[in-house]
Amino acid sequence: MECKRYLPPKQLDQFLSQFDSSSKSTLGFSVQNRPIEMLKIGSGPYKILIWSQMHGNESTTTKALIDLIPWLLGAKRKRFLAAFTLYIIPQLNPDGSHLYTRHNANNVDLNRDAINKSQPESRVLRSIYEKIKPNLCLNLHGQRTIYSAGKGGASASISFLAPAADFERNNTTARQKAMQLIAAMVEALSNELPNAIGRYDDTFNSNCVGDSFTQAGTPTILFEAGHVPHDYQREKARAHMLNAFKALFESLLNPKESIKREDYFKIPQNQIEFCDLIVSHVTILDGGDEIKDQQLAIQYQETLVGERIVFLPIMLSYGSEIELRAHNYVKLSPSFQAIGLRFEEEKLIKNSIFTEEFALKR
Ligand SMILES: [Zn+2]
Repeated sequence: MECKRYLPPKQLDQFLSQFDSSSKSTLGFSVQNRPIEMLKIGSGPYKILIWSQMHGNESTTTKALIDLIPWLLGAKRKRFLAAFTLYIIPQLNPDGSHLYTRHNANNVDLNRDAINKSQPESRVLRSIYEKIKPNLCLNLHGQRTIYSAGKGGASASISFLAPAADFERNNTTARQKAMQLIAAMVEALSNELPNAIGRYDDTFNSNCVGDSFTQAGTPTILFEAGHVPHDYQREKARAHMLNAFKALFESLLNPKESIKREDYFKIPQNQIEFCDLIVSHVTILDGGDEIKDQQLAIQYQETLVGERIVFLPIMLSYGSEIELRAHNYVKLSPSFQAIGLRFEEEKLIKNSIFTEEFALKR
């Protein structure tokens, strides 16, 4: 199923329509009364609760689930279906998925609502968690283009976190299990993503769902589908994420002795080192000054226009040499070098020649 970056509930419904009530159920409703659907796949004793698009604008892991489910239901995967029961919520935040927003329709970040459970979506997740009592939780997200896998590393194409269970970040039994499984996935993905897998910051925050479930004793893994250079529709990241799921299931059934949970700490920590684009030879107009031959750092702002996401160029900073690295570099053509660009931090580039040349057309 072809999906671009925007994956609204109505498109997900096309995928879900092939399942009947023996495997599909409605767990509850969002703020705007959209159903929150769950698929139950497999019949094994080891229960895995999976949710995606808790942040509505993070669709890549949902796309990977759309690939995973038919793969699991394929003839050769019976051993997984006999060992596991997967409880999959493809869109925990259907309103945000429709609006292409991180937050839900009440403008609440559902991943900061684990204690208060002020939102219907948060209550749906907590209630299914308590009902199932899963052996493992997978908390699926997407991350921005700004991260590198460690200092000077490649763009973080996938990141993982074994969330802490307390402020001291102790290695509780649940956390150790998550670390072990992450280490196994990283080993399995190391050939396809060399130096491009990152580890997320593990500062404890009991309002984050992963931290809260780990605190309650359930191993929980945070997945962040990241940026593969030039893959703004995240179709490559989607394929890597599918491979991560496959490696996880294989490792649950056949753990490799050689992989130790300590390997988790060898995964480089995410650093903010990238912007989307650096343009050189720009004439900047700032205040009353005209400054020639500058580099300009640009970050794209994902904006829903009609049924597609457009990437609008936002000015970050300028200088004779920008410290950030970029996913793409452009030299301004000589005929445009004389045209000044009025710099305003965090503002959209309005000058149409710059917009035309530098916004992604996808
Ligand atoms: Zn997220």
